[in-house]
Amino acid sequence: MFEFLHAPTKHSKEKKLQLWLGQSVRARVVSAEFDELKGQPLMLSLGEAVHRPQYLQKIFSKPLKPQFGVDGPLMLDSGGFTMMTNPDGALPIQTIADVYRDTDADLFISLDFPPGFDETEQERSDKYRRTQENLEFLLQELGTEKLIPVVHGRTIDEVSANIDVIKARSSSWAWVGVGGIVPLLRQKNDSRLSDGRHAREHVSSIVRQTKEAFPEHNVHAFGVGAPSTILSLMALGVNSVDSIGWRSAANFGTIYLPGRPARFPTKSGIKTRHTRPALTEAEIELLENCLCPICKHCSSVEERLAKLNSSYVPRAAHNAWVVLSEVRSLESAIASGEHHHFLSSRLPSHWFSLLNL
Ligand SMILES: [Zn+2]
Repeated sequence: MFEFLHAPTKHSKEKKLQLWLGQSVRARVVSAEFDELKGQPLMLSLGEAVHRPQYLQKIFSKPLKPQFGVDGPLMLDSGGFTMMTNPDGALPIQTIADVYRDTDADLFISLDFPPGFDETEQERSDKYRRTQENLEFLLQELGTEKLIPVVHGRTIDEVSANIDVIKARSSSWAWVGVGGIVPLLRQKNDSRLSDGRHAREHVSSIVRQTKEAFPEHNVHAFGVGAPSTILSLMALGVNSVDSIGWRSAANFGTIYLPGRPARFPTKSGIKTRHTRPALTEAEIELLENCLCPICKHCSSVEERLAKLNSSYVPRAAHNAWVVLSEVRSLESAIASGEHHHFLSSRLPSHWFSLLNL
């Protein structure tokens, strides 16, 4: 169950762990404002042109990195999930191919049709067929170097069959995506999966199947939220994840701290707008040790708290830094064989117990 984290000696081909900072084209690009963050991997989605078709011309037909002020790797999502929920605004596959061909993005996700929870086997099978047709089209237009096919499936057999199709299309994929993980972890209505443990077991089984089928590839999981889920998926074998969690938390007013749930930056004795529990002493210590682009310029913990309380941008920069640092820490722990200890300090028991360490 735990192929990814064996002894470092067996891992000469270990892939670098990559976190892609999810960014909306409508929101302020916080990572571009800090030298420490502007070279970090960024993820944008064509799904935004589903709601606002003018973005196709205005934004997606021009080089993206200069527009957003970043110079690191850029991944572009087709917006399959958005198109599923807004079919009237769906972009033609040729349009997606044209954008992908002319963009300066480094990787593009194939246009997939994620299976829904209340769909019949026949409906799912129809979606898999359309996903495969799109992959075939984009493959002809773009080749395999930058294109990421997406594995879907509600059962082990469906996952297997979809893996076989992707392999049959080409043997030279560099990347492969694992689809549907977040809806699985979030959904509440499926009687077989309503128990969170079953959902997590199904997720780990999809990841395991995909890793077994594509052992030398980069394996990416989409739209993962909390840092603990990011680390859990990476521990299960995914080496690449995108997340907007750092921005959502900042928007909500909360900050990340290593190994802790998102917290409001409040300390007992300091008045704030909200009446939330103050940070514990241990959490204050974690904040004192933060080396993010915001905290490192503050001399006291009070100044850090005031800054993080003041507005979205400092919180988002801090959160991006913390989650990126956590991924680097996992990478170092794997390299030194100390991942068991590291993961036990970071993951909730319901994820840790799935790892079979
Ligand atoms: Zn910080």
